[in-house]
Amino acid sequence: AEGKLPEDFGRPLAGKVAVVTGAARGIGAAIAATLHRDGATVVVVDVPAAGDALAKVANQVSGTALQLDVTRADAGEKIIEHALARHGHLDIVIHNAGITRDKLLANMDAARWDSVIAVNISSQLAMNAAFLAADLPGLRIVSLASTSGIAGNRGQTNYAASKAGVIGMVRASAPAFAAKGGGINAVAPGFIETDMTARIPVATRAVARMLMPSLMQGGLPVDVAEAIGFLASDAAAGINGRTLRVCGQSLVG
Ligand code: NAD
Repeated sequence: AEGKLPEDFGRPLAGKVAVVTGAARGIGAAIAATLHRDGATVVVVDVPAAGDALAKVANQVSGTALQLDVTRADAGEKIIEHALARHGHLDIVIHNAGITRDKLLANMDAARWDSVIAVNISSQLAMNAAFLAADLPGLRIVSLASTSGIAGNRGQTNYAASKAGVIGMVRASAPAFAAKGGGINAVAPGFIETDMTARIPVATRAVARMLMPSLMQGGLPVDVAEAIGFLASDAAAGINGRTLRVCGQSLVG
């Protein structure tokens, strides 16, 4: 607590600058709100098409908005540039942007595979490389995985592969971020009620809900956001390269 002002007590992220990708709605918007409540200055990132919703979230969390497609090759540099220019430093990154393009395996096509892999995992790799190349001491990263990446889910071969990939990438990257005094972890949510799951085909949705009876205890965006807030904080300094499941009393994984 040394160096903290009395008004910062109970605000574990006071003085931190945090970036949340895919923050215009759903889990990302809930993460932005939680990090703001905990004292962080929040930069919310989403695609230009989500600009109006993004501006609204930025306003709600008294933060700044950055319209950016995370699959751009220079996304990491753009994020660093914005955070440093507007807020002076960058302490926390939450890789939340993600998409689903479900199809049963027999009909899975290259375009669905490539787009999901590009948004859900390749973008994180490129951004993490940029963060390491920059001088960002103590940077803490939290990536969104999914129980689909642990247990699999019918119709989601592409999505499950991308999320399993995130879990492996987080493990493999942990030493590099620890060497800078920070860390990188993942959360694997179960079935969470958002626009993303509302779009899931009925059959897949029924299976997901059956396997993940999480709605009884922990099935809302805020449940995911609270776990992320902890992993993003210095209180989680002893945790690195791990994946925390946020799926209630799920039968899977
Ligand atoms: P959502 O579809 O409601 O919101 C995702 C946001 O990401 C959108 O605002 C979208 O515009 C943004 N986004 C997509 N592609 C982007 C890109 N290339 N660049 C920048 N922003 C982009 O989804 P959600 O349910 O809130 O999911 C958020 C994260 O949580 C995703 O990574 C998802 O895979 C993961 N997740 C969700 C669930 C669930 O049940 N909803 C479960 C496990 C994991």
